[in-house]
Amino acid sequence: MTKKRIVVVGNGFASLFFIGDLLPLPVFPLFAAFLRRLHSDYDLTVIGNGRFVYFPAIPEFIIGKRTAADITVDIRPFLWRRNIRFVDAKAIDLQDGGRTVITTDGAYTNDALFLGIGPAFMADDIPGTGIYTFSPCNGPDAMEAFLSKLEGLSEGVVYVGFKLNKRDGFVAGRGGQMYECACLLDYALKEKGVRDKFEIHLFSPDIEPGAAGAITDSLLERGIILDYGYEPKAFVEGGMLDPDGTFRRADLVLFTPGITAPDWIRRTCLPVSEGGHIDVDRYGRVKGLENVFAAGDCGNHEDPPPWVPHQAHMARLRSSAAAKNMREVLRGGDPTHTYRFELSCILNMENDALWMHVSGDDKPPFRGIFPRHSKKLVTVKSAFERLYLFYLRHL
Ligand SMILES: Cc1cc2nc3c(=O)[nH]c(=O)nc-3n(C[C@H](O)[C@H](O)[C@H](O)COP(=O)(O)OP(=O)(O)OC[C@H]3O[C@@H](n4cnc5c(N)ncnc54)[C@H](O)[C@@H]3O)c2cc1C
Repeated sequence: MTKKRIVVVGNGFASLFFIGDLLPLPVFPLFAAFLRRLHSDYDLTVIGNGRFVYFPAIPEFIIGKRTAADITVDIRPFLWRRNIRFVDAKAIDLQDGGRTVITTDGAYTNDALFLGIGPAFMADDIPGTGIYTFSPCNGPDAMEAFLSKLEGLSEGVVYVGFKLNKRDGFVAGRGGQMYECACLLDYALKEKGVRDKFEIHLFSPDIEPGAAGAITDSLLERGIILDYGYEPKAFVEGGMLDPDGTFRRADLVLFTPGITAPDWIRRTCLPVSEGGHIDVDRYGRVKGLENVFAAGDCGNHEDPPPWVPHQAHMARLRSSAAAKNMREVLRGGDPTHTYRFELSCILNMENDALWMHVSGDDKPPFRGIFPRHSKKLVTVKSAFERLYLFYLRHL
């Protein structure tokens, strides 16, 4: 029987969860590549840059607990152990309804395609974003650049903010992460004994002025000034312009714009949703194309609840369904696996933590064995990270 050729584009969370679900473990680290050569039903190729970044740990750069090296994994040994071919390239086009992926290093054909190409940030939405703001979402280097600027300040005004893309009916943006950054910044400045020399503001046009809740309480307890409802007209040298053109001083701005899918998909055969995502159905199938699936931050949802965010956690649920469905369609069947909607994330403030959780079926995380508000969750979050990075590095 000829093996089915599967091409995976991207080597971030969605793609690696997809691979984990597609290939059954046995985990025999030493012999895995050999055993998989004997047993595999699939001929798998991953197209990417070979570098996995554990984004959820980037805010902890602020308190000096993590560095770029700690959270970056060379993913090639993980792929080698699974007998997966790696192509160090960027996808730039799709042809034949997805059967051919054109890359910077040639063309790759497939029987089924999975796209996990991650987000693009709408940096043109507010003028000056790319020049005058830093974003943890642009990766470890951008966060380190922010921190080296901060190091150079003995006092000042720091704005931390986010904007969301809600045009596809869900939360395409990084709200929770920016709350976390603001609280960790407060913690780091207190540790240095200079908190009283800095103003920290949290702004977002997507939060109603006067909004209340556990996160708002945590921000207020830390003396963080709430600019809920605020959207600058532009980011400029030394600050921001208000909608009426008034200048507002900001010595540093940490800001993340709304999320959409990477621009190149708009020049391909892929369908694009109103909010700019790859248009997928409830099975993770790209609409209108055969045997093409997508998951993670690049894809929208069919009928999402309005609170569902882009998260590694959601990427896991979606990729798992997509992997099962791809197996079914490659066997000639129809996809049957849908996925749950769940927002689940630990907001680490270092001296405290909140488990932010909402789910479509009201199930609590891990059957409710963990507290929802406790400093102990900082250790839990760290344990999830260590386990996942151990799995990628060694299993
Ligand atoms: C600061 C921060 C904190 C976060 N905290 C949390 C958290 O606590 N909990 C949580 O669940 N989520 C969190 N997230 C969100 C989470 O990291 C994302 O939802 C997740 O990374 C999405 O996975 P993805 O695979 O879609 O995208 P990514 O992980 O970004 O992966 C995309 C991959 O595609 C590759 N790629 C892109 N374009 C191409 C191309 N043209 N050709 C080939 N390869 C390509 C990239 O190199 C990368 O390998 C956080 C994010 C950030 C930025």
